Amino acid sequence: MNRIPVNDIRKALEAIIHPESRKNIVELGLVKEIVSDNEGISVTIDSPRPNDPFISSLKSVVVRALKDAFGPDTIVRDVKVPPKVTEKPSEKKPEIVLDDVKNIIAVASGKGGVGKSTVAVNLSIALAMNGYATGLLDADIFGPSIPLMFNALDFRPEVIKNGDASVVLPLERYGVRVLSTGFFVDPDDAVVWRGPMASNFLKQMLTMAEWGELDYLIIDLPPGTSDIHLSLVQEVAVTGAIIVSTPQQVALADAVKGIAMFRNEKIDVPVIGLVENMSWFTPEELPGNRYYIFGREGCKALSEKTGIPLLGQIPIVQGIRESGDSGRPAVLDNTPVAEAFRNLAEKVAEQVAIRNRDLGPTKRVNIN
Ligand code: ADP
Repeated sequence: MNRIPVNDIRKALEAIIHPESRKNIVELGLVKEIVSDNEGISVTIDSPRPNDPFISSLKSVVVRALKDAFGPDTIVRDVKVPPKVTEKPSEKKPEIVLDDVKNIIAVASGKGGVGKSTVAVNLSIALAMNGYATGLLDADIFGPSIPLMFNALDFRPEVIKNGDASVVLPLERYGVRVLSTGFFVDPDDAVVWRGPMASNFLKQMLTMAEWGELDYLIIDLPPGTSDIHLSLVQEVAVTGAIIVSTPQQVALADAVKGIAMFRNEKIDVPVIGLVENMSWFTPEELPGNRYYIFGREGCKALSEKTGIPLLGQIPIVQGIRESGDSGRPAVLDNTPVAEAFRNLAEKVAEQVAIRNRDLGPTKRVNIN
């Protein structure tokens, strides 16, 4: 076969019009290379849109255009088009997105009894006091302490019909909308539940609740790193997690496991901060003294090691325990410890804002 000049080939390819832009493929810059010799013609096509359906059909269209232009015996040796890109399926696909809830924050701890629920409760009330619409879900299914801390042991949520759907109305107290597993089931009954039952119940509570528009929904997770955690944080579009620990080594070791769980690539929930609880003890009669009963600055060291911000240090105060038990959380009073919880709430809001700003409005984890 006689060599066909490249310019003639380019001209022939101008007959091929992209259906969307109505421009020809040469004009669009899609023809990257034309090689022509006595053996035949090779054309390489490129596209900035990897999965353009037009491009994948282009092979035969180019061959036809060249044979139309130079005769049916024209040898078209090769038409290279960019391969289809198969998208890598995302490891984590949250199914549950609450449209009216801007940020879902999971409060977790490696170990039980470190004050996770105390922090979750006081943090949610402090956020509400700071002007944020806030909800609290007590997901600590086997040991729900929130009914007691909100003085709502006898509260039973109303379930109303909204069209075909049943809607659960949360408790509204201290400016926070609250739901607890303890409002529905006796913890003694829940103990015999298997993991999937517990996580299904939690997901149901989360999605059936009439939360209204919320800036923050705080989830008080069970302690540890169980299947319930995995299922909940994998399926719910959680904005970030807060890990509560005491400065004690055994608690910190478990906190590290908690951090690893959230950072696992299958979970991939950012840990937005650490909260050190029971940091020191100050007796009322010696307000200037600090006794580091569980060790000193353990969470600070962990923060430095992991790069996770330390959001606050809460001292051991008899009033925190008493107020928790009496159903009027400590943050409501005008005390130094109340201020510590309000500062914590500010820090949480700050970290969430940084995260959402970094991700940009279209990539916000929870509302997309
Ligand atoms: P968790 O949710 O980690 O199991 P809780 O929040 O239920 O822990 O706290 C365990 C106990 O410790 C509760 O009686 C609570 O009132 C008490 N407590 C928690 N934090 C403090 C604190 N900073 N000072 C005094 N008591 C505290």
